[in-house]
Amino acid sequence: MARPTKALINFQALRHNYQLANSLAPQSLNMPIVKANAYGHGAAPIAKALEDLAPAFGVACIEEAIELREAGITKPILLLEGTFTKDEVAISASQNFWLTIDNQEQKEDLLNAKLTSPIKVWLCVDSGMHRLGNNPEDIKSIYAELAASSNVDDDIVLSTHFACSDELDNDFTQCQIDLFRSAITGIDAPTSLSNSAGILGWPQAIADWNRPGIMLYGNSPFAEPHPEADKLKPVMTLKSGVISVREIAAGETVGYAASWKAERTSRIATIALGYGDGYPRHAQSGTPVLVNGLRCPLIGRVSMDMITVDVTDIPTVAIGDEVILWGEEITANEIASHASTIGYEVVTRMAMRTPRIYID
Ligand SMILES: *Cc1c(COP(=O)(O)O)cnc(C)c1O
Repeated sequence: MARPTKALINFQALRHNYQLANSLAPQSLNMPIVKANAYGHGAAPIAKALEDLAPAFGVACIEEAIELREAGITKPILLLEGTFTKDEVAISASQNFWLTIDNQEQKEDLLNAKLTSPIKVWLCVDSGMHRLGNNPEDIKSIYAELAASSNVDDDIVLSTHFACSDELDNDFTQCQIDLFRSAITGIDAPTSLSNSAGILGWPQAIADWNRPGIMLYGNSPFAEPHPEADKLKPVMTLKSGVISVREIAAGETVGYAASWKAERTSRIATIALGYGDGYPRHAQSGTPVLVNGLRCPLIGRVSMDMITVDVTDIPTVAIGDEVILWGEEITANEIASHASTIGYEVVTRMAMRTPRIYID
């Protein structure tokens, strides 16, 4: 008994990728980002696998931080978007969650809270992303208010986030670095600028703290080959199996909307995985699928529970044969390029239904 669809999660690759971040930023504290269920890999197991190495973890919201505490993670956890409601401040103080201060409202909620112990704060500068963060011209006054509050730990971190660091020839990143540095001149505090692309591609943005996310999971943030990113090892291998094989005549169609038509007598293998398992529904005919180790083209529409593959050009294929959707041979980024998306989304949308198998 068992549907063959499984996401294998390789902890050795995870640690290798984290060590690559550490080797590129040896003087820094590198905070693994494990938001969105660790980009689909499973937040608690991923955090546990890194806890001995990591100084702290970053998540998107307090629910994700609580999930890690309930799983036994004891390291500090930064809420990258800060609090959404006032009641989260006291919970954060009691749980050793660190708070990003992204706006005046979050600052007020923190300053007005009745706390018995101070909270460590990351004060975020909007250096051009224009999504979260405080205006550069307000940073000195907000910093002074926070530093004077007994609710705030002494060691405030000054942070910002890049919009275009995955584009190495885009000078927007250098503009953000310059704006950030000018906003914080005169403040003697640790800083944090870089996500994965910053760590891998912008050495001038490596700072006291960095925030590696996608690189930990072995996906390059860059569209082009890159000497450092190419050392990353994919953590997730998505596997399934053949559950049916048939021959169809030229002119016959396959799947919903009868959208793919055979131009020759074709052998079609049906695989036990679809968009209900996290395989992108928008993957086009021609997306590579590894059947018995050989690349074959996906054909027709991706169904909820199944996909179909043209196996005419490979030797015998039988029910039960192994299929790999992404991993070392075919990266999540390559799949993304056939599905009008990015590797981040491909791994993050891994469905709850798909069992994760953790391999040490
Ligand atoms: C998600 C996130 C990161 C990690 O980004 P990657 O591109 O996955 O490395 C870093 N910092 C912040 C604020 C984030 O939201």
